[in-house]
Amino acid sequence: MRILVQKFGGTSVSDIDRLKMVRGKVCAELDKGYKVLVVLSARSGKTNKLIELAGRWAKKPDPAELDSLLSTGEQASIVLFSMMLKDSGIRAKSLLGWQIPILTDDSFGMARILSISKEYILKAFEDNDVLVVAGFQGVTKDGRITTLGRGGSDTSAVALAAALDSCPCDIYTDVDGVYTTDPNLCSSARKLDRVSYDEMLEMASMGAKVLQIRSVEFSKKYNVPVQVRSTFNDHPGTLVTQEDAMMESVLVSGIAYDRDQARITLCDLPDRPGVSASVFSALAENGIVVDMIVQTASRNGVTDMSFTVPKKSMEDATAIVKPLVDSFGVGIDTATNVAKVSVIGVGMRNHSGVASRTFDALFRENINILMISTSEIKISCLIEEKYVELAVRTLHDTFELDKTAE
Ligand code: ASP
Ligand code: MG
Repeated sequence: MRILVQKFGGTSVSDIDRLKMVRGKVCAELDKGYKVLVVLSARSGKTNKLIELAGRWAKKPDPAELDSLLSTGEQASIVLFSMMLKDSGIRAKSLLGWQIPILTDDSFGMARILSISKEYILKAFEDNDVLVVAGFQGVTKDGRITTLGRGGSDTSAVALAAALDSCPCDIYTDVDGVYTTDPNLCSSARKLDRVSYDEMLEMASMGAKVLQIRSVEFSKKYNVPVQVRSTFNDHPGTLVTQEDAMMESVLVSGIAYDRDQARITLCDLPDRPGVSASVFSALAENGIVVDMIVQTASRNGVTDMSFTVPKKSMEDATAIVKPLVDSFGVGIDTATNVAKVSVIGVGMRNHSGVASRTFDALFRENINILMISTSEIKISCLIEEKYVELAVRTLHDTFELDKTAE
């Protein structure tokens, strides 16, 4: 039995005409001899509306009840689509997360998948050619419905493909694939034919919002070949796959940016063991996600420590470190008008000069770099938010990302 997973997002299921296009995509694969497992999201806007509704009924909606409510958006999509398929004579069946089951832990709103019954799916394929599975949802071992976090249908699809011996997984969306940068910011952005899991992780975590980051982690772990492509045309999409020698020859694959950054600087911290530990333990205990961290070299026994957090966490983070800052008797400085721009590429591992070209390009536009962080395959610069577009375009030009590599 050859199985293919196809996932369609909210904009692909928003009305009957679009669902007919989805049906066309499913039939094309049936004609090639595949059994198709279709994962659907709720219609676009539906999950937001349900969250808003919950907020009107309760000041602090119970997380478990909220997940049961949110899961109904996907339930409506899969049932309507299965009805449509059956109407056209296709052997199809809708399946909710608990029916398979897609077993998760009990972190409501952000549940993690623990296991998926492959046997149940294979059995269901004996009498059906298409299984239409609700994305975004699972069930705890106690039988409570959970959801996997916003954008979680991507993760449902990849996890199902992983459970089915890492069969191919096509993620259909309203763009043609993964681009070298955000085409809304830079008109010369180019669709990538292939991108490695690691590059995609960097892009997904930095605002290139095509795939939920967890789905990329899953696909990397289980080596699921993921293709991101459009519901609305037949162009080949972007293959997210293992790194190969050809990818390494390309110096830079993409430029990502993230406006959701705020900077906190603790000035003149005592330079002794345990100070950083106390600051970041306090933040971690309160669930604050810290991104960039830079500490200056010690001068006269003191250092400056800067770090970034999501903009919405800025006030909480400042309040959390305040008692520590007071106990050290040092200053605190904050800024929310900042953003991060990142140059990404596995080719950086074996080539030098990417950092200097990045800094030089920003300098030529007179853009000041506030913080720098690097990994093997990424260079990130924190800059003033008003320069994001200019920085993205400049870096895209500098690394000639509009041109295909030979
Ligand atoms: N419907 C969910 C959301 O809006 C899951 C998804 O679309 O992937 O976040
Ligand atoms: Mg999505």
